[in-house]
Amino acid sequence: MIQSADQTPSVEIRDAAAPAPAGLPARIQHYIDAEFVDSADGETFDVINPVTNETYIQAAAGKKEDVDRAVAAAKRAFHEGPWSSMLPRERSRVLHRIADLVEERGARLAELESFDTGLPITQALGQGRRAAENFRFFADLIVAQADDTYKVPGRQINYVNRKPIGVAGLITPWNTPFMLESWKLAPALATGNSVVLKPAEFTPLSAGLWAGIFEEAGLPRGVFNLVNGIGEQAGDALVKHPEVPLISFTGESSTGQLIFANAAPHLKGLSMELGGKSPAIVFADADLEAATNATIFGVFSLNGERCTAGSRILVERSIYDEFVRRYAAQAERVRIGYPHQPETEVGALVHPEHFEKVMSYVELGKTEGRLVAGGGRPEGFEAGNFIQPTVFADVPHTARIFQEEIFGPVVAITPFDTEEEALHLANGTKYGLAAYIWTNDLKRSHNFAQAVEAGMVWLNSNNVRDLRTPFGGVKASGLGHEGGYRSIDFYTDQQAVHINLGEVHNPVFGKAD
Ligand code: NAD
Repeated sequence: MIQSADQTPSVEIRDAAAPAPAGLPARIQHYIDAEFVDSADGETFDVINPVTNETYIQAAAGKKEDVDRAVAAAKRAFHEGPWSSMLPRERSRVLHRIADLVEERGARLAELESFDTGLPITQALGQGRRAAENFRFFADLIVAQADDTYKVPGRQINYVNRKPIGVAGLITPWNTPFMLESWKLAPALATGNSVVLKPAEFTPLSAGLWAGIFEEAGLPRGVFNLVNGIGEQAGDALVKHPEVPLISFTGESSTGQLIFANAAPHLKGLSMELGGKSPAIVFADADLEAATNATIFGVFSLNGERCTAGSRILVERSIYDEFVRRYAAQAERVRIGYPHQPETEVGALVHPEHFEKVMSYVELGKTEGRLVAGGGRPEGFEAGNFIQPTVFADVPHTARIFQEEIFGPVVAITPFDTEEEALHLANGTKYGLAAYIWTNDLKRSHNFAQAVEAGMVWLNSNNVRDLRTPFGGVKASGLGHEGGYRSIDFYTDQQAVHINLGEVHNPVFGKAD
C-alpha cells in the first residue's frame, strides 16, 4: 500500500519502453505518526522516470518543521512504548510478519523499484528478497541474543544491560533504495528504537510501501516515520536534530564528511557506509572463466551503481591480453534493455544528472586508457539514461578513471607483473570498501587478503554476503561496521551493571580515630 492506491498518477506514461505501474499514488507524501501527510509548507520536488527523463510524480519536500514533527512522534513512541520495552520474542514476531509481507509483495515492490530507479526487474526482485531476509535475520538474532557477564568469585558479578537508544535517523542512497532501507530499519527496529527514515530524493517511490507493511505487521504507531526531501534540507535537519542521537548514513564519501562535521556538536553515534573503487585482482593461476564471469557481474550488475562494484580489474601480465580479449567480448554481449523486461541485464541509470557524470568519465576514459568495449549510448536507446557496458584497458594508476568512483557500468583494467605491484595498485586509491582476489594459491590469497586495504575481501568469489559478517569499509569508504552483531552494537547502549556479592570494599575516608 502506498498512500491511496485508488488515486490516479499525476502523469500517465503509456510508452511501451517505460510502462508506469498501475495504481501509482497521486503524489509521494511523508508518513508521520501513522499518517500520510504533505510538507508543512506544501512544497514538493520532481521525481523522474529514468527511461524517459520525464517527471512522473511530485514528492513532498520535507524541511526542518517536518523533521521536527517526525522526531517528536518517534520520541513519544519510544518513551510511551510498548515497542521499546517489548519482549524480544514479541518484537521478533512482528519482524517475521514484516518479512512475510515483503516477500508477498515482492512483485509489486520490484515493479515500483525498477520503474523508479531504472534497475533491471530481475535484479529488483532479488533486492526485495534480500530486504525480507534482513528482517528475518534480525528477528532471529534478537531472540538468540546473549550478553556478557563477568564474575569475580565471591566479590562481584558484572553484566551488560543492552538498551535501545532512542530515535535513530536513517539516511539512504538511491542505488538499491528499498533493500538499503531494510538494512538499517531491521536492526534499528529489532533493538527497540524508533526511527525517522530519509530516503534518497532521486528514488522515493518504494519507501512508502514500508508504511503499509509495518502497519499490517503490527508495528505500533509512531515507531516508524518517513520524511522525504532533499539531502541538504530534510537530511540536514535530521543530522542536526538534538533529539536524534544516532545517524546511520549510506552515501557518497563527501556527504559522509559533511554529516560527520554537522553531527559533531551533538556527539552523535555515527555509522558511515560510503563510496568505493574496489579492485578485483586476477592472478595467472586463477580459474579464468569464473574470474571473468564474476568480474563482469561485479561491475555491470545493478547498472554499475553498486558501492562494492569491482570497478578496477588488476590482471597478471602473462594472462593480460587473453583476459582483456575475453572480457571485452563478454561485455559487448551484456544485454542492455528496458528495466521492466526480464531479459535485461543493464537498464537505465537513475537520473540525467548521474548519466551526465558517468558519460563524462566515459569520455575522459578515452583519453586515459584504451577503449575495448562500449563507450557511449547504445543504439536504439535515444532517450533516457542508457550507457553501454564500457571497458578501458591499459589504464595507469594515475588516471582519474582508476582513482575516482564512477558508479556506472564502466571498468578500468590494468596489468601487473608482481604480487607486490598488484598490492600497491590495489591499495593505491583513497577508498577501501571491498577487494576480490582470484588465485588458486592458498598462501598468497590469505596473505594478500591480510595486506589489502579493504573492509571486505572475497577470495575466488563474487560479492556473496553472509548476513552475520561485518559490512563496512576503511579509509574513505566508511566508518564503523554494520551487519550481524555489529548492527546490534550500533543501535544499542551497552550499560555495565556492577553487583557487589561480598563485603563492601570501601576505602574509608574521614575515618574516626
Ligand atoms: P549521496 O551522498 O548524494 O546521498 C545519500 C543520501 O544522503 C540521500 O538520501 C541524500 O538526500 C542525503 N544527503 C545529501 N546531502 C546531505 C546532507 N548535507 N545532510 C544529510 N543528508 C544528506 O549519495 P547517493 O548519490 O545517493 O548514493 C551513491 C553513493 O552511495 C555512492 O558513493 C555509493 O558508493 C554509496 N553507497 C555506499 C554503500 C556502502 O554500503 N558503503 C552502499 C550503497 C551506496
